[in-house]
Amino acid sequence: MTVRTRVAPSPTGDPHVGTAYIALFNLAFARQHGGQFLLRIEDTDQARSTPESEQAILDSLRWLGLDWDEGPDKGGDYGPYRQSERSEIYQQHIETLLASGHAFKCYRTAAELEQLRQDKQSSGKQTALTVSDLALSADEVAKREAAGDSYVVRMKVPEEGVCVVNDMLRGPIEMEWAQVDAQILMKSDGMPTYHLANVVDDHLMAITHVIRGEEWISSAPKHILLYQYFGWDMPQLCHMPLLRNPDKSKLSKRKNPTSIMFYERMGFMSEAVINYLGRMGWSMPDESEKFSLTAMFENFDISRVSLGGPVFDIEKLRWLNSIWLRELSAEDFSQRFAAWGLRPENILPLIPHVQPRIEVFSDAVPLAGHFLSGMTPLTVEQLQFKNLEQDRVVELLQLGLWLLESIRVWDRAAIEEQLFGMAKLLDIKVRDLLPPFFIAIAGTTSTISVLDSMTLLGPDMSRARLRHAIDVLGTPGKKKLKSMEKTFIQLSQDIKNLPKETAE
Ligand code: GLU
Repeated sequence: MTVRTRVAPSPTGDPHVGTAYIALFNLAFARQHGGQFLLRIEDTDQARSTPESEQAILDSLRWLGLDWDEGPDKGGDYGPYRQSERSEIYQQHIETLLASGHAFKCYRTAAELEQLRQDKQSSGKQTALTVSDLALSADEVAKREAAGDSYVVRMKVPEEGVCVVNDMLRGPIEMEWAQVDAQILMKSDGMPTYHLANVVDDHLMAITHVIRGEEWISSAPKHILLYQYFGWDMPQLCHMPLLRNPDKSKLSKRKNPTSIMFYERMGFMSEAVINYLGRMGWSMPDESEKFSLTAMFENFDISRVSLGGPVFDIEKLRWLNSIWLRELSAEDFSQRFAAWGLRPENILPLIPHVQPRIEVFSDAVPLAGHFLSGMTPLTVEQLQFKNLEQDRVVELLQLGLWLLESIRVWDRAAIEEQLFGMAKLLDIKVRDLLPPFFIAIAGTTSTISVLDSMTLLGPDMSRARLRHAIDVLGTPGKKKLKSMEKTFIQLSQDIKNLPKETAE
């Protein structure tokens, strides 16, 4: 048997360090067994998937040196490798399940589903929505079908008994079927859900080992059932421990930059980032802290993965990076420094903003130096403004930070919509609102538009700098944060309802 593993990211945002971590372990496992590793794009959520995000994922994994054998850009014998190009395949498989009676068309309306859930809650039953909960009489089904009502396709799930999930790291895990929903496999628009597409693709792409994050354990019973219904052999399942923030909560962009692009922009070396990810829950047999990707492949053993939540700590990563960096020869250093900061892809987008504002090249450094730096060194004094109390500055930065977190596609218009919307709703002039953002992002107000700066710096770097400015002024207490959170929720709703022209 040839070992085949995959990473299957959904292109719905910035390339996440968690994706790189899972890709790394899949690749290491495949390489250790002389197998293949493939990249599949899971873009069935058409509303949230974007081509920009897919491109960024591919670029970031490539930057890290995580190379795949088959994928949407490379092709391969098992393609297409993008789920949006495989609709017919899923349709056929839905037909198979409907014909064998393992799935059913569910005509329940949203209101009925809500009622069913409420009934369940008030009866004190802690179970999922079962097939019998959802059942409608044959007459009713025929009526709704004849009326052309919309439906979803759900899988049949046993209502009692225990499902055993065999996990490579955990051994057998028992889960009660009563807790497993009669999962939707195909939505009313004909698009498959993750569960169907993922299982069908893993089978058709001959995946032998599914190595993924532990947040997917609860999906495993549904997947096991689908393999049984189709009469296919199961791949081995291996759920990796989730990456955590230093406070042990799940790694999230609210607390830590999570985009691989942030680490690239900060000037981390890809070798160090991969080295650090390799140490998440895993160690070399000799416990050495610094190791290359090749060394990891040579020594890889999945059974050395430990389940205690690995902490992704930027300070430790900086330390590891410093070791890699000090070992560079002066020539390599200068080459890599130039490739990091001065390559055309980095410089070109800045030119239209810089060229009209300078007289000699050296003017570009104070004007645009913040594009190359990491965190802006800031003092409380720099963050004092004529028309704003210090508490108000913290509040505005925090509200802005939260609003910017909600942006899906990071572009100037979206940033402007949030910040200008906030100014309008808080009844504060844009010219008073923006200076704290200028200082937080660039350390000065004499530079290019802060909206352009943020657009070019990207979401993670922009957010990290805003967070840093808030830290410099002093993070608000719990009570204050709570009340600010309320204001934020209200603001984010109201901004959506603002007439478009006010955001322009
Ligand atoms: N598309 C899923 C994700 O975004 C894949 C999960 C899996 O590996 O099964 O993580």
